[in-house]
Amino acid sequence: MLKLIKVINFINGEYLEPINKNYIDNYNPASGEVYSKIANSDKNDVDLAYISAKNALPEWSNKTIQERAEYLYKIADILESRIDEFAEAESYDQGKPISLAKSMDITRSIHNFRFFAGAILHHEETSSNFNKNFLNYTSRKPLGVVGLISPWNLPLYLLTWKIAPAIACGNTVICKPSEFTSMTAFMLGDVLIKANLPKGVCNIIMGTGSNVGNEIVSHPKIPAISFTGGTKTGQTIASITAPHFKKLSLELGGKNPNIIFNDANLDDCINTTIRSSFLNQGEICLCGSRIFVQENIYDEFLERFIKATENLIVGDPKNVDTNIGAIVSEQHLNKIKSYIDIAEKEKCEILYGGDKPNLNKQFEKGYFIKPTIIKSNNNKCRLMQEEIFGPVVTITKFKEENDVIEMANDIDYGLSATIWTENLSRAHRISELLDCGTVWVNNWMTRDLKVPFGGTKNSGIGREGGKHSIDFYTEIKNICIKY
Ligand code: NDP
Repeated sequence: MLKLIKVINFINGEYLEPINKNYIDNYNPASGEVYSKIANSDKNDVDLAYISAKNALPEWSNKTIQERAEYLYKIADILESRIDEFAEAESYDQGKPISLAKSMDITRSIHNFRFFAGAILHHEETSSNFNKNFLNYTSRKPLGVVGLISPWNLPLYLLTWKIAPAIACGNTVICKPSEFTSMTAFMLGDVLIKANLPKGVCNIIMGTGSNVGNEIVSHPKIPAISFTGGTKTGQTIASITAPHFKKLSLELGGKNPNIIFNDANLDDCINTTIRSSFLNQGEICLCGSRIFVQENIYDEFLERFIKATENLIVGDPKNVDTNIGAIVSEQHLNKIKSYIDIAEKEKCEILYGGDKPNLNKQFEKGYFIKPTIIKSNNNKCRLMQEEIFGPVVTITKFKEENDVIEMANDIDYGLSATIWTENLSRAHRISELLDCGTVWVNNWMTRDLKVPFGGTKNSGIGREGGKHSIDFYTEIKNICIKY
């Protein structure tokens, strides 16, 4: 029998088996077959990683920002030289199309390191002598050993969005990727070795959330946690960390409105709405899964949107022409299907999709589903209120501006929103009224890494990006001198 590759821990600059020697099966989502083994680590491995991170902290935090930035640039360069290898691995492990893994996931991971190398070099502190005879200035220090926990939808992209600013600021880290998608985090260890990153600065522990994740979050000596994942897990983490006053960044779920007015540029809008609905199999927290269309363009929009959806190629993630790959896991596919199954009960109508695409025999056991469009007139139904996190959108007609603002805000989530209109004052007015962390007008998911990123309500606490990440990963002190 073929020996399966073991995805093991990266501690103190070395690859190590989990101390308990336990492993979890790792599946290829396109074939449904086990293709590797993931270390099922536990407290002992987290403790080892903590010692390694703690020992590395004094030297790392005392390096100049130029020295730390150089390491980040080097990591980015090595990753870039291996972009095809990483894209192939990400696609195979997660199920996403290889073209997307290359153009989005790995490209952005490289950019994360370059961006935060630059951000730390260009960061300036404030000072004030406005009060006569007094000088105030601020000074920053890293937090120490920081815990970083990331989800399965954008595996390396979201993990490096945390590692890069954390280590740029002089912290050392213990990371836990999702047990469903640990492969590229495992491969990153080798990049860190090649970049000569000092041992112990970045430790990566594989395993489950309830075990390794929980050990990191509840570790008494880890003062800060940056977490991206589901709202329920975020609540658990908040309840564990609150009594210890740990610094916490929570980037959680979304159920984002995509609001299309009758003066929208429909060509642009439909092209982008196809992406905002189904990119990465709809497994992006920023996807616009609730589409609201003004009544006098509703029929035209619907006809064109369904036609464009029919043209999407669902299937082999390795095929460069594929638009929609496999869902990450059987468990998640079943969750998506369970929502499609309640459509009738919720008096919603499936206008397109909802079933499995016809694919070759090799994908028979893979986790595929067609992009799905569901018509709904009830903003309170579960399909419109709960995060499905798959290639499923609801579509709802609206009459007036006020109606749609009310529906858009009448939800527990507040991550992002998209508005389509050529009316500038309406764009500004509605952007102000939407209760969420990001609004895109006539575009979607255009990311400038300087801008604040995060959500309101159940979509999380805090902002990351540019100086907001530097704020999170450092402790700031004000010093006031009389002269
Ligand atoms: P989960 O919350 O299930 O898991 C996220 C990470 O947390 C995983 O590494 C998981 O480990 C770990 N984890 C699980 N339980 C615990 C625990 N008790 N303590 C510590 N860690 C734990 O989310 P998913 O992986 O399912 O990701 C999808 C979710 O992420 C969606 O809700 C999506 O909206 C959200 N998301 C938010 C983004 C944002 O920026 N706001 C961006 C991307 C996704 P394991 O998987 O091994 O169990």
